[in-house]
Parts: sequence; structure tokens; C-alpha cells
Amino acid sequence: MSDVVVEAVSVQGGASVVAEDIPCFQCSYNLRGLAAGGQCPECNAAIAHSLHGTSLRYAGREYLRKLHRGLVLVILSMLTGAVLQMGYLALMLMGYLSAGNSMLILLAVLLLPFGFSVAAMVGYYLYVTPWVVASQVRYQTKVRSVLLIVLGLELVLLIVQRIVPLMSGYPVVIGRMGRFSFVSELLLEPAIMALVLYHTRELAERLEDESLVASTRKRMWIPPSLLAALAFMMFFAPIFAALHGVVSAMIYVPYLFLLNRTRGKIRGLLRERHA
Ligand SMILES: [Zn+2]
Repeated sequence: MSDVVVEAVSVQGGASVVAEDIPCFQCSYNLRGLAAGGQCPECNAAIAHSLHGTSLRYAGREYLRKLHRGLVLVILSMLTGAVLQMGYLALMLMGYLSAGNSMLILLAVLLLPFGFSVAAMVGYYLYVTPWVVASQVRYQTKVRSVLLIVLGLELVLLIVQRIVPLMSGYPVVIGRMGRFSFVSELLLEPAIMALVLYHTRELAERLEDESLVASTRKRMWIPPSLLAALAFMMFFAPIFAALHGVVSAMIYVPYLFLLNRTRGKIRGLLRERHA
């Protein structure tokens, strides 16, 4: 791609000018003779996008910021949610959480995790923002639609799990929560992870980071499958429930590392833009 770009742009009087018949990616207007750093006179799209394809190096600042913000939100809320759960476990083991302080239980078990899950969902939503460039739009919109459906289902389940018990008397419902979290852990969470990894692989290509592409490709199917398998085993052999925290951490930690690597790359592009 970049070779083509170099040939298509010639320097005339100090300014880079499009020297070949190159159509605008958006409206197909012939950009020949126009300044490479300018905009399409027909539709105002940046000419750089038509010259450089889908490389994120030429993506708009606002778009990159959105992706970055989304990833920060996902990573922070998932980490905080995990720490919270460990804290809850510790409180329970130390005997602080009993029927006597039900407010604390409500906060720790129902409301706070709900808040962090919703924050992570908002983060995912930002992270899959489609970039309005060329042939990739359709595919990106598709990924986002599917992810939105899955996130919507997860939200409904979360409300049933976390908010309905608040209104209907907490101890009665907690026994039934297992069924809902089973659906979520068996189907929805692995689906979200797979979609996000799929999207990350595509972003890694546009970030032109070969090693990130390779590691995302490696992780695209196995961690989500393991997550689903874990939920399945837990449901039929509750003994696995004890291992659940450890095993899902082993799956989620490398996943979050990968997302953080992507975040770092995007941050780098934003820094370059600033300089
Ligand atoms: Zn145009």
C-alpha cells in the first residue's frame, strides 16, 4: 500500500499533490491534482484516507480517542470488579458479611459489580466504534451490531440478577441467581470476548503491528472456548465452582494484557499526533 502512495503523490512547489487518478474512498471523486493533505471538494473526506487506506496512522483524532477511552474503561472496570469480588470473598471469609449487615452485602454483591459491568459495556461500545473509511465500514458495523445484541442480553441478565433481587427480597432470589449467571458465563461472556478479540485482530492489522496481529489470532478462539467450558463444568460439577475464580483469572488476565497492549499502541498514535 505505502509504495503506491509514494508514487501517487508528487511534490510540486513544496506541497504534496496527488499525481495519479485516485478516487475518493467515499464519493469516488477523482482526487488527481489536489493537495494530499487536503479534503475532497465533493464530500469533505480527508484525502489522506483515500491515499493510505485503513491504516490507523491516518485516522481522526476523535476516533482514536474514542477507542482509547473505551479500552481504558473496559480494563479499569474489569480490574476493579475483580478486586471488589476478592474483597467480598475476604470479607465473607473473615465473617464480616452476615445477615446482620445486609446493606454491605447489597452494595458488595449486587450494586457495585453491576456498576462496573455496565461501565465495561460502555467501554466495549466505544471500542467497537466503526471508522467511516472505505470497504471496512460494513464489516465493522456488523461486528458492532452483534456485540450490541450480546451486551443487551447481558444487561438484561444483570438487571435480573442484581437489581430485581433488591426489590423482591434478597435472600430468596440469591439461590436462583445461579441459573442466570450460567447463561451469562456459558454464552454471553465468551461471545463478548470472541467478538472483542476479533475486532482487536482487525484493529491490530490497521495499527500495522504484526506481533499484535499474531497474538490476537492465537487467542481468538481458545480463551472464549475455555471460558464456556468452565461454565459448563461448573454447572454440572459444582466442585469446579471453587476453581472458577482462579481459572477465569487465568483466562481474563492475558486477555486484558492484550487489550492493554492495543491501548498502548493507540496511545502512541495519539501522542505522535500531538507532537
Ligand atoms: Zn469525496
